[in-house]
Amino acid sequence: MKHRSSCENMIKYQLVARGITDENVLKAFSTVPRHRFVPDEIKYLAYNDSPLSIGEEQTISQPYIVALMMQILELKGSDKVLEIGTGSGYQTALLAEIVKEVYTVERISSLIRSAEDLLNNMGYKNIFYKFGDGTLGWKDGNPEQNKFDKIIVAAAAPDIPESLTGQLAMNGKLIIPTGNRMYQQLVVITRTEDGYIHTNEGGCMFVPLIGDEGWQE
Ligand code: SAM
Repeated sequence: MKHRSSCENMIKYQLVARGITDENVLKAFSTVPRHRFVPDEIKYLAYNDSPLSIGEEQTISQPYIVALMMQILELKGSDKVLEIGTGSGYQTALLAEIVKEVYTVERISSLIRSAEDLLNNMGYKNIFYKFGDGTLGWKDGNPEQNKFDKIIVAAAAPDIPESLTGQLAMNGKLIIPTGNRMYQQLVVITRTEDGYIHTNEGGCMFVPLIGDEGWQE
């Protein structure tokens, strides 16, 4: 009951008040309980306006930045989405509430294992999991089938990984924090018939994306 009202306040004061209007995004935030994705000892902070530690020196992102990235992507019910950086699985669940399929990649095995256990327990059937380097995207099977309508990267890269732009479907969108290790810009890349269009959606701070097409460890 207490979590329910904290969640409603989070939506009202952190999301709607700052310009999140996408009804699908707001409904997903109201459906997925953020407190289930944070460690027991900090559950009382679950609806705060901040990132929180989830162990392994990683964080569950600030709710507003997750909502903003999802809103910018203009998610649709028919979308196939690639998520890089599963972390706690919270954003994975939010995406799975809206889109047809979510393919999620995480480089820390303990995190992807606990996220998969939790999301399975919660009954999600439209999520596919991979332990590995997400800078290379989703590598299984036929490359032509590995095209995504939307790609969301929840960690910061020095440059845009070419493997990810290469896995965008026509008219697909990729959103990725890009910059140095301390401060980045949210960059959106849209694939069109005439090439890739880049737009900048403002400043942000994310943990580093570590891998072949990201930062070195
Ligand atoms: N969206 C997550 C959530 O809701 O909890 C938070 C993601 S956290 C800010 C960033 C995650 O990206 C970390 O779990 C980190 O281990 C992961 N990461 C960093 N580099 C990666 C890579 N090359 N491939 C996959 N995951 C990566």
